[in-house]
Amino acid sequence: MKNPEAQQDVSVSQGVRMMFYMMKPNETSFQTLEEVPDYVQKATPFFISLMLLELVVSWICKGKPPGRLDDALTSISAGVLSRLPSLFFRSIELTTYIYIWENYRLFNLPWDSPWTWYLTFLGVDFGYYWFHRMAHEVNIMWAGHQTHHSSEDYNLSTALRQSVLQIYTSWIFYTPLALFIPPSVYAVHLQFNLLYQFWIHTEVITNLGFLELILNTPSHHRVHHGRNRYCIDKNYAAVLIIWDRIFGTFEAENEKVVYGLTHPINTFEPIKVQFHHLFYIWSTFWATPGFFHKFSVIFKGPGWGPGKPRLGLSEEIPQVTGKEVPFSSSASQLLKIYTVVQFALMLAFYEETFANTAALSQVTLLLRICFIILTLTSIGFLLDQRPKAAFMETLRCLVFLMLYRFGHLKPLVPSLSFAFEVFFSICIAFWGVRSMKQLISGPWK
Ligand SMILES: [Zn+2]
Ligand SMILES: [Zn+2]
Repeated sequence: MKNPEAQQDVSVSQGVRMMFYMMKPNETSFQTLEEVPDYVQKATPFFISLMLLELVVSWICKGKPPGRLDDALTSISAGVLSRLPSLFFRSIELTTYIYIWENYRLFNLPWDSPWTWYLTFLGVDFGYYWFHRMAHEVNIMWAGHQTHHSSEDYNLSTALRQSVLQIYTSWIFYTPLALFIPPSVYAVHLQFNLLYQFWIHTEVITNLGFLELILNTPSHHRVHHGRNRYCIDKNYAAVLIIWDRIFGTFEAENEKVVYGLTHPINTFEPIKVQFHHLFYIWSTFWATPGFFHKFSVIFKGPGWGPGKPRLGLSEEIPQVTGKEVPFSSSASQLLKIYTVVQFALMLAFYEETFANTAALSQVTLLLRICFIILTLTSIGFLLDQRPKAAFMETLRCLVFLMLYRFGHLKPLVPSLSFAFEVFFSICIAFWGVRSMKQLISGPWK
């Protein structure tokens, strides 16, 4: 029997509550996986609203924005990139889970029981703790997860800085649940567990009193994002901080936290943000002698080296002074505004693509994904002020016009269709002239 209270549309009240895991079992229990809403995709307006709220609160309380534009754009870019594979494939976290459930389940807990709902809440949160801990302690898993830590700011946009690679290892930690918890219940909690972690990425909430004892809070998660020595490998929780307290990885916030990787990557280029550590592992793997040492490069901690303990030496982590200057784009204000406009247009096409996936041909879908990746890369090049940025942007605007003309990208506002074409033609002319000038005046670096 279907649950009469459950529905696929998410109301405004539910939308707000789902961002804080304040959902009731009877409104979020589904018999089949197909009925489970894509809560994460439906959360976009709530992400934007909360980010705007954080901006206003930060201006009022601190007299400054909660972060920097270049950093925030890079974070949202990573969020966009990480969601693209789901346009083609069901996530590996669900595929493997369903396979184990269908072939190896030991017993079948009732999908409509609140007990199953609460047990799954605990099970997913516990699985996440161990996944997250391993993502910091196993180098090859860190190659995915480091993306999330690469921001040198800490605000709600940082939460969206997600890894493309992460789900290829995280699924392993949820497989025990597939022995007894129905996939539809698991799919609900997997999403709420992720959504809960959005609001804790902020500096505008300082301390939440007694809730700090049980829940993961902005204060606890700030420590997790710190590169101060006392912050490294601490506070892995998603929702309940009790796991860190039980397993000895808890650390309270005390001295000022400096955010980001211990060795900052100093780029806004989204592909590099996603994959740079894989290349680092590759080169370290070949540079390290001996089979067992090579094996250790992959499976021991990111700070490991021959003769060192599994997680490396804490004294090798650079000391912070609190005066670190985060990497910033040297692009002009005007160019930054231009990147925001182009980014917003891309985001509108991205949303429209997710809303109409079923109605789009595979070719259109693939071309749109390529256009989105090209746009994010080009914006990264512009922010990094790379020599080939002008050429890349000319190419991107040309690709846009082609896709638009051939109907692979639909006009967002049909009455403005002509204005769109004029705008992109001007962009092609502007960036085309700049790239020609660069080509004449000197070789690209
Ligand atoms: Zn982490
Ligand atoms: Zn985080």
